[in-house]
Amino acid sequence: MTFKHIDLRTLILLFALVTAGVTLANSFYAARQVQHQVLVENALEANRAYAAKVASSIEAFLLSAQQQLAYSVDRMNVDFDDPDLLHAEARRIQEQDQGFNAITIVDAEGHVLAAWPPSLLRDGQALTSSGAEHALNTRVPLISDAYTSSAGNLVVFISHPVFDAQKRYLGFVGGAVYLREKGILHTLISNHFYRDGTLSYVVDNNRRLLYHPQFDRVGSVVGANPAVDALLAGDSGAMQLTNSQGVEMLAGFANIPLTGWGVVSQKPYRDTVAPLDSLMWQMLYRTAPVGLLILLGIWWMTRLITRPLRQLADSANAMEATSSPERIDKVRAWYFEADHIKRALLRGIGLMQERMGWLNLQAQTDPLTGLFNRRALGEATAVMTEQQQPLALVTLDADHFKSINDTYGHDAGDEVLARLAGLLRQCSRDGDLAFRLGGEEFLLLLPDTSVADASEVAERLRRLVELTRIEPVGHVTVSLGVARCPGGGDFAEALKRADELMYQAKQAGRNRVLSEPL
Ligand code: GH3
Ligand code: MG
Ligand code: MG
Repeated sequence: MTFKHIDLRTLILLFALVTAGVTLANSFYAARQVQHQVLVENALEANRAYAAKVASSIEAFLLSAQQQLAYSVDRMNVDFDDPDLLHAEARRIQEQDQGFNAITIVDAEGHVLAAWPPSLLRDGQALTSSGAEHALNTRVPLISDAYTSSAGNLVVFISHPVFDAQKRYLGFVGGAVYLREKGILHTLISNHFYRDGTLSYVVDNNRRLLYHPQFDRVGSVVGANPAVDALLAGDSGAMQLTNSQGVEMLAGFANIPLTGWGVVSQKPYRDTVAPLDSLMWQMLYRTAPVGLLILLGIWWMTRLITRPLRQLADSANAMEATSSPERIDKVRAWYFEADHIKRALLRGIGLMQERMGWLNLQAQTDPLTGLFNRRALGEATAVMTEQQQPLALVTLDADHFKSINDTYGHDAGDEVLARLAGLLRQCSRDGDLAFRLGGEEFLLLLPDTSVADASEVAERLRRLVELTRIEPVGHVTVSLGVARCPGGGDFAEALKRADELMYQAKQAGRNRVLSEPL
């Protein structure tokens, strides 16, 4: 699998996006986990503390209720036979602080001696409720579980026995707390209920609800519930549980040691973790601006990183252009790899151009004499014509060269040609161009030179050749023709004229120069 159609920038961007995405998702997931844990732990701890507080308040109330009855008994036990005093005392206790909904004073056989409010029970009526029977049987201070009283109320019954000075049992004073009516217990608990979806209830030893915010449930028995199970085992604490209605709850629970009852304070798990989503959104909103800035930064960095590479690649693609090295040189390769590539490209192009120059030179020179060849002449005249350069032409042809070859051999002929080339160079100035046009014919181009000056050069050359001894041939001579090509003139025409003059020189006896008229 290749991705050759995807550029580096896209790759880096994709990589950065994937990395950023995974990192973000991961940190969101982690933050969510932590938040979740915090919310759950906080709810558990709040409910545990709340249940403990309610439990201790209820216990304090029950203790004070017991003390109130004990105090009252102290006042009465001497005069247990005085019905007026008993009625007054029953009324006093009930009206004192409304802690009890009803007060009953009962003799040792379970008959009512006095009751308040008076409408409830007749004097002399036998009490048959389980609370009363329990009190008569045990003759100790008691707090009952919930039960339905003789008068049909769901009550908790708090009683205190009465003994005379000889420790004979006289009966008891009992206070009923009505669970389905407003009373101190109700006020005590309900004052605190309903906090942020939190719900609390109180159960007695028989799992019966002494208090529940859904009032009609008071008196009913709680179904399977791990917190109630733990409470009845005497524990206090907190736990996550599924209640009898199948709802997941975060519950705190506290035992009331005095009675063995328990308080459960619970909040639905769903309500507890509900803020999580909004927390996550908030986190997203808060991270978004910086996240976008970072992405923008990455986008910009990818531009910075890939630009020199792209520019280098484009320049390298157009390597044959003569401007290529300058273009490459201008690329701001600001980091190691790009700089490395840039240097390598410049070196490569330098070497290539050097090599091409050498090959070009080889293609334009004659190997025997080292002079320019006909191909070079074509290019040189093209340039000069374009630049409208005026110039003089001197054509040169060795005399009787065939016989030299015939007499001394072809190698000796070659030697003569090489020497002639040397002499030609010797007689030319900087800027002059010397060509071997083929065989033993040469051409000298003299830029910005008059016919007169060119004729002088030609004459000097002719004499130099004539005087130079070339072994083993001895002396050779040459014939020359001189013509002029004005700036922008027809070069081929001028060459033809020079050739023509050179042939005329041959015909005129060789070893001479013939020039165009001045
Ligand atoms: P002319 O004075 O009229 O110029 O007589 P010529 O013998 O020089 O005339 P021609 O052009 O008939 O002869 C040229 C000879 O040059 C023919 C050929 O053998 C010889 N030649 C051409 N090229 C070379 C070369 O590269 N090396 C050698 N050794 N001889 C060459
Ligand atoms: Mg010839
Ligand atoms: Mg010749």
